[in-house]
This record gives sequence, C-alpha cells and structure tokens, in this order.
Amino acid sequence: MRRMFGDWKFIRAAAVMLGGALVFGAHSPFAGAHRERLSDPRALPGFSAARFSSELQWESKFVHLPSPSRAEATLRRLTSEPHLAGTEASRRVADYLLDEYRAAGLDAELVPYSVVLSYPGEILLERTAPSSMRLARPEEPIAGDPSTSDPRSIPGYGAYSPSGDVRGQVVYVNYGLPEDFQRLTQLGIDLHGKIALIRYGQCFRGVKIHLAEANGAIGVLLYSDPADDGFRQGDPYPQGPWRPESGIERGSIQFTFLYPGNPIAPLRGLSPAEISARLDTREGLNLPRIPTLAIAWRDAAEIMPYLRGPRAPRDWQGGMPFTYHAGPGPVEIHLRLGASLETRTIYDVIARLPGETNDWVVAGNHHDAWVFGAADPGSGTTVQLEVARALGALKQAGWTPRRTILFCAWDAEEFGLEGSTAWVEDHMNDLHRNAIAYLNMDIAVTGERFGGAATPSLRELVRSVARDTPDPRTGRTVYDRWRERIEQYSSVQRPGVARPQGAGRPLPMSALGSGSDYSGFYQHAGIPSMDISSSGDYGVYHSIYDDFDWMKRYGDSEFAYHVMMARIAGLILMRLADADVPPYDYVEYADEVESLLEGLRAAARSAGARSPRQLDLRGVEAAARDFQAAAREAGDSVREMLAAPPDRRRDESVAHLLAGVEEAMLEPGGLAGRPWYRHTFSAPGINTGYAAVVFPGVREAIERRDWVTARLESEALREALERAADRLRQAARLARPSARGPTQ
Ligand SMILES: [Zn+2]
Repeated sequence: MRRMFGDWKFIRAAAVMLGGALVFGAHSPFAGAHRERLSDPRALPGFSAARFSSELQWESKFVHLPSPSRAEATLRRLTSEPHLAGTEASRRVADYLLDEYRAAGLDAELVPYSVVLSYPGEILLERTAPSSMRLARPEEPIAGDPSTSDPRSIPGYGAYSPSGDVRGQVVYVNYGLPEDFQRLTQLGIDLHGKIALIRYGQCFRGVKIHLAEANGAIGVLLYSDPADDGFRQGDPYPQGPWRPESGIERGSIQFTFLYPGNPIAPLRGLSPAEISARLDTREGLNLPRIPTLAIAWRDAAEIMPYLRGPRAPRDWQGGMPFTYHAGPGPVEIHLRLGASLETRTIYDVIARLPGETNDWVVAGNHHDAWVFGAADPGSGTTVQLEVARALGALKQAGWTPRRTILFCAWDAEEFGLEGSTAWVEDHMNDLHRNAIAYLNMDIAVTGERFGGAATPSLRELVRSVARDTPDPRTGRTVYDRWRERIEQYSSVQRPGVARPQGAGRPLPMSALGSGSDYSGFYQHAGIPSMDISSSGDYGVYHSIYDDFDWMKRYGDSEFAYHVMMARIAGLILMRLADADVPPYDYVEYADEVESLLEGLRAAARSAGARSPRQLDLRGVEAAARDFQAAAREAGDSVREMLAAPPDRRRDESVAHLLAGVEEAMLEPGGLAGRPWYRHTFSAPGINTGYAAVVFPGVREAIERRDWVTARLESEALREALERAADRLRQAARLARPSARGPTQ
C-alpha cells in the first residue's frame, strides 16, 4: 500500500506520456477493451439494439462526471465531527445529505424511525490479581491528526451489552468460534463463572458473545490482536494503515444472525410495561445477556501474560510478545458496566431520481458512524453522492432512465442495520411491486482491491462493468487486476465461492452473508442484491483513527478510487435502470445452485447421513435441474425478444417476472429458528454472522445432525427452486416472439 504512493506520480506521468491508459485524462475513462466490447450490442445484455446506442452515449458522458476533488470535499464534510446514530450530529449528517441530494436535482426526504439504541455509561475495568491495575484506557490522540483528540468521541464499548458487575478469572478463547470453545473443553477448561477474553476476527462479534454465553461465561472482553490488524500486519497508524496499540474496535453485539434491526420489533403489540420487562430479561430477543467490553491490545497485554494453565494451541498464538496460555486465571478482573437502552429517532435519507416508470433500482449505504467514519461509512456515502450528482447532471442534460433510481442513506446501521431494516419492513409491498435490484456500498474505499458479493443472477453485471472501467493506478481494467488477485488465491477454496476453472471462466464471486444493509433487501425481501467495495490494508475499523487523515494518508490519497467506485456503481445503476429487461443471468444462478449442491451432499455424507430416511436430496436435485432448464429457456426467449421489434408493456412484464425469481427463492416461513431470514439460497451463518452459508436451512440442520429439520428445510428448498423455475417459464412464455400478440 505505502509503496504505491511512491510510484504513483511516476506511473501517472508515464501513462500521460504514453498516451494510452490515461487515468484522470478526459479521453478514456472507459477501459480500452470497453470501446471494442461496446461496438457490439451483445456487450450489454438486456438492451435492444435501439436502446443500446443511446445507453452508450449516456454512459460515455457519465464516466467523466465523478470528481476526485468534489469527493474529497464531501468526505471532509462527512467526517468533520463524530456522528453516532441517535445523536444531534447524526441528524446533521442526514440534513447535509438531504440538501446535497436536492442540490443534485433529486427529490429527497428524511424518513424517521423510532428504535432502541444502546449507549455506554460507566465503564470500569480493572485487573484485581495478581496485582491491581486500571484498564479500559482510552485511545491515544495522535499529533498532526486533530480529529483523534476530539473529546466528543464515544469510548470503546459493545453496543447492547447489558449493565453488569462481574469479577472472575480470565480464560482466553482465541476467536470465539465454535471449534475454539470445543478446544477449551478438550483442554479440560470450564468457562462457567469465568470471563472470556476473545480476539476479534474470523466471525461477527455477536457470534462470539452468543457462544460465550452458551458456554457459561459471565462476561466477555473483546480485543484486537496485533496479529490480525495491528503491527504484525504492518506499521500502525500514523506510520501506516494498521491499528495502533490503543485502537479499539467498537461494535454492536446484537445477535443480528437471529434477526437484525430494532431489537423490540418482535414485541409489537405489547404494552410499554411489558416491553420494558422483556428488555430486562432479554428473553426471546436478539440481545446479549452478559456484560461485554471492547478493549485495545495494550489492555489485553496487561491481562494475558498472567494467564497460566495449558499453553494455548499453536494457532491461538497472536502477535503479542509472550506465549499465550488459555487459563483459567490466576489473573482476575473486575468489570463494571453501566449501559442504557434508549428509544431514539433515526433518520434515513431517501432520494429519488424519477424515471419513466415507477420501477425501482435502489442504491444504499449507511450514514451513521461509530466515530468519524471516514472509510466506514463515509467512503461509501461519498461515492454514492458522487453517483447521484453525476446522474442528476445527466438528467439535466436530457437523460431520463427508464426506471426510477433511489439513493438511500441509512441510519443506525452500526447498531444492527436498524435504518434499512425498518425501511424494508415498511415498504415490503412496494419493494415486491417495484424493486428490481439493490446495490450496497458500505466500506466502499480503503484501497485498490475491487471485489464484491452478489446474488448469482447479478454477478455478470458486476463483472461486465469491471471490464469496462480502468483501474486508476495501472490504467488496465478493474477486472484484470481483480482476476489476477483471485487467481493468486485460487488454491484456497472458501465456502460459497466456486473455484475458477481455467482462463475462460468468469471470476467467482461470493454469496451474500450479512454485516451490512443489503440483508433486509436480500434475505428478508428477496430483492436481487449486490455489495461492492475497493479494499486495502485497513486496521482502523470502528476506531477514532478511521478519520479523514487516515483516508488521505493511506486509504485513497488522490480520491481516484472513490471516482473508480463511483464509475462502477453508476454504470451498474444505469444498466439496470435503462435496460429493456434488466440483465439478470439466471443461467449462472442455476449453474451455481447445481454446483453448490455437491457441497451440500458432501456435508450430509460427512455428518453421517446414510439412508434416504435421514435425508434425501433427490427432490432438490431434480428441482435444481429443472431450474437450470427453465433458466436457459428464459435466457433464450429474452434474447429473441430483444432482437424483435420492441413491445414496452411486454418487456416490463418480463422484467417483473424475472425480478420476482429471487422472491420465489424465499421460504415464506423463514429458516428454522430464525424466521426473519427467508432466503433459501444464502444467509449469514449462525456461527459466522458475516460470511454466507449457502442453502442455510438444510446445511445448518445437517451440521446439527437434526435430520427432521434437514428434511423439512430440503423440502422448502425444493419448493423454492420449483417456484423459481415456474417464474422463469412464465417469463420465457411471455418473451417468446411467437407468443407476441397485437398488444400495441
Ligand atoms: Zn459500515
């Protein structure tokens, strides 16, 4: 990362001299290959020849419009003060965004919701044995970065931790994954009555607390190990982009993998007294019950060296300069937390760029931050605003998208996706009637590595835009750099990611898990969704150091990657909004389902499913093959339809049927044990919280060897695939030219 900035000026100058891959030059904001690709109408799936050439003209105007200097000014404004959700400062950010969207020519409004948020009160952490020492020390200010001495920053805490006062011996639990707790048991260490010390990483923090509770811990300390995002990775801020020794990762420990959003949402209809009683016991809610505090590694370094008991397993050793032990004790700590749950008003900003129809293409990111939030979420907010400004300018120049584009700035995402979840639940019918896709951009820019996760039907759209966009530093395509990187890692296969097979295969992309605002759209409402970012070395996540200076020094000093992301996001939105039929690729979806079923079969075998009485996946397999056949039929018919003379009404009906295939993949009753999550294809894992689990209902039942549930969930999956195939066949029938009647 740092080396790049040494090379940067030289590379840019060389590019200018060579006259080829100009970076900011006005000549070729499209990648070179793009010009050839786009001389062929087949380059833009979903477009008829008639709409293809006008799309090209508008796209080539658009890519010149996002501006690095304007993006920089926007980020500076967004990060000018800490703006935690539910505070006046957060409201000021919402007002600023409202004004900016209006100034860009969009119709914008604030949409308030009342939700239960969590704020810290007293924070006392002390080591009481073998000697006493006060901990929970605040983050250190950095000379030359004035934001870091702002007294308004909220201290490190875990949102939704209960108040509490606990004392006990400490046990180190590594990342707090299920296998880590099992390992403790094997080592003969009992967590009951102990305080768990768990490092961040590998899974969502709420998962760690959920498991610590289940294993009998009375409290949890979460810390950032220097091996994961501190000096073992590289120089800490301000010498480098990694976490300094006093840096604290704040964060919500709401159990969002059960359901996200307002924690009291399931209590609708109860009286205020009943609600407050339930909030006290936390029974049946997505809230943790043991006090939890987030600390810096310099505090952990005052506890861990005093742990004895067995030496920690080799892979539990982190980056601090002593041998890690698991405990328990003899070191003891005292943790006293006062925390308040408060009902506050949050403000989503919804801006509308009207199209010819009321079909919606939705873009979104949150605007609330733990502190200054330069990368998280400011970079995404900045990119989204640049896109809105550019598309607003196109509109003034005469462009009207076929579909309406919504730009949403969500509030209180950090607490548990509150603003987006409330809005999605509030607009379920509109979404099902109108929405054809959702594009999320959260921590949009921390470096140069473009990547994304998406529902399989939209992966090719993301790739196609990456092929048409130059990487700012090299001038090659974003796609080429992305491919190179993936190929380096292709020997490591991750769940939900198919391995690239040969040079001709498209880049694999991940399924959607959770951790950002697409969850409501995708997993609850069944809207085809994408999540994209350009990432780099980023160790200041959720700390006071994620500020404007960090971005300027390490994230994106020229704001070139903000501009790149604005081009990518803008082209994705334009293609979805302008196409005759949005460019869904259901053949890829069906092929992905087919290939991932192999993993499901393997999981069933290794869990010991021997007979069809335990689990019979043949029904699912047949439905998947039928989904595949229907996807090919629909793809062929739509291509034929687009080659024939246009019929606007029919195009729109076909578009709606295709958009609805994703909704067909929802199980209306939801997944076993967590009905809010309804998507049968992917969900955040109950033991990962962020990463996607594919076919979650069946897979997690298999892992629990709960064969009754596994059979029910596989029935639900089979039915979902059948519904999806049905919709595709309806679309194919309607699109087939022979079916065309005199509708005009
Ligand atoms: Zn974020």
